[in-house]
Amino acid sequence: MKLKIGHLYGNLLNTYGDNGNLLMLQYIARQKGLEVETEIVSLNDSFNASDYDLVFFGGGQDYEQLVVSHDIQNKANAIKTYIENDGVLLAICGGFQLLGHYYINSAGERLEGISALDHYTLNQENSRFTGDITIYDEKTGDTYHGFENHNGRTFLGEGAQPLGIVKKGTGNNEKDNTEGARYKNVFCSYFHGPLLVRNQHLAERLIELAIKNKEKKAGE
Ligand code: GLN
Repeated sequence: MKLKIGHLYGNLLNTYGDNGNLLMLQYIARQKGLEVETEIVSLNDSFNASDYDLVFFGGGQDYEQLVVSHDIQNKANAIKTYIENDGVLLAICGGFQLLGHYYINSAGERLEGISALDHYTLNQENSRFTGDITIYDEKTGDTYHGFENHNGRTFLGEGAQPLGIVKKGTGNNEKDNTEGARYKNVFCSYFHGPLLVRNQHLAERLIELAIKNKEKKAGE
């Protein structure tokens, strides 16, 4: 079986070792006997939802995010289709922010997201949330460890699910103890470090979900 991973804007949004998440996905997939192909989908490329078994969308600086926020509007429908069809997607920090409604950057400019998930992100003045962070997912009993470094303060819509509840660190914002977001097979987080290298159980889960989707498609 071959797994095709799409790396959204991998040449622009790739800070703080986020690409380590891809290495981890490749490592786990190969351990399970799968072949892996990774493709960057970037500016002016089209995103064909049915081409990918797994999608990774990393974080970045405000300037790159501004460029991406314009281009991604052309891919918004295709990305939403992928998500609504149970596509597996991992988004970190800047990628997480752009899957929501909008992101007010550190200069106060509004960058449009694609509203694939129900959250929005505000900024904070001359400050960042930086440091080690630990969260707990009450539904699965999973604990996640990582490192956060973001100016953005993200607020989830009513009923939107976080990835976990903050045990140590800040998370989405200074107010509600949530971190990241979960929707269908989409996992969002502020964790760098990279997330999957420090939390192998999540890497396993993403690969297993991708395999399940592939088997379902093959049986249709
Ligand atoms: N530029 C965004 C922020 O500061 C995202 C940062 C990141 O992806 N690490 O909130």
